[in-house]
Amino acid sequence: MRIGILALQGAFAEHRTILHKLGAESFEIRQKRDLDRSMDGLILPGGESTVMGKLLQDLDCFAMLHEMISGGLPTFGTCAGLILLARFVEGGETQFGTMDITVRRNAYGRQLGSFATTGEMEGVGEISMVFIRAPYIEKIHGNAKPLAVVDGHIVAARQDHQLVTAFHPELTADTRVHAYFLEMVKTHAAKYDFPENGTTH
Ligand code: GLN
Repeated sequence: MRIGILALQGAFAEHRTILHKLGAESFEIRQKRDLDRSMDGLILPGGESTVMGKLLQDLDCFAMLHEMISGGLPTFGTCAGLILLARFVEGGETQFGTMDITVRRNAYGRQLGSFATTGEMEGVGEISMVFIRAPYIEKIHGNAKPLAVVDGHIVAARQDHQLVTAFHPELTADTRVHAYFLEMVKTHAAKYDFPENGTTH
């Protein structure tokens, strides 16, 4: 199983470390030709969603990634990655917009918005949750389902092949959220009909 990790900016290296612990292969997506490599899943890390969106456009990666995600490529977005996937963004602009959620950027305030807590995530259990200038999900639409709620706000959700967390599981030693994503990758592998290798694009 091979996971591509968007590595333009932000906390991508930590995702690789966790995937490595779980025995999954990964590689970094830094430019358009990296999208030609076959991948079974995609991780969009934390960072700054506006900067990532702009870099994706400048590097001409946006449209192809959008097509891959819409086509069913299992995708896991953490924090800024969650914002990239949201259909509606309060305090920012819609980027891929593939997931039926409304997200509020910097929802906990810009300065004091970083904290850690523990909470229950459906399908995973009780976990540490590290929030860094995090968004939360204000509203769920369509097929999206909430997986975790902290202080009355949705902080994790799933819609078919897409998984998002407002917190950073890659910044803890716990591998269970990534293991959950790898299970999703396995179950969706059969359904995903995007070409093995993106050379047809
Ligand atoms: N505040 C960032 C944004 O709006 C997200 C922060 C993060 O990814 N840790 O994109």
